[in-house]
Amino acid sequence: MLILSQRHYDKIVTHCLNGLPNEACGLLGGIIAGAQKTVQEIYPLTNLDHSPEHFAMDPKEQFQAVKAMRTNGWVLLGNFHSHPSTPARPSEEDKRLAFDPGASYLIVSLAEQGNPVLKSFNIQNGVAAEEKITLNGEEQ
Ligand SMILES: [Zn+2]
Repeated sequence: MLILSQRHYDKIVTHCLNGLPNEACGLLGGIIAGAQKTVQEIYPLTNLDHSPEHFAMDPKEQFQAVKAMRTNGWVLLGNFHSHPSTPARPSEEDKRLAFDPGASYLIVSLAEQGNPVLKSFNIQNGVAAEEKITLNGEEQ
């Protein structure tokens, strides 16, 4: 289960909206306790592909973000990216490029204007399973 505050949710969605018409991406840092992952900070990154259908995180920014997490005693929980015009489901490419079975892969769909949809997935051997997100203590 992934626990996300309203502020973190807003930060993810704002970065994704600002990135339109292209995909946007970023990292999530936080704390793992048993099966619970609690997000402590969102790190918006540049999509080097500048594409509405692909993303590539800037490795330099990625490195800086992970360094900032470590300074705070946090770990990398996973990442997020947006789907400007498709549903909040991992694409075949997303599944193929998901190498960490312990990571949370968040997808924000902006297909429906004014109604962003955020979902989280665990991806193992190319198979995606939705991970529950708890927003501000309330299940969504
Ligand atoms: Zn995708």
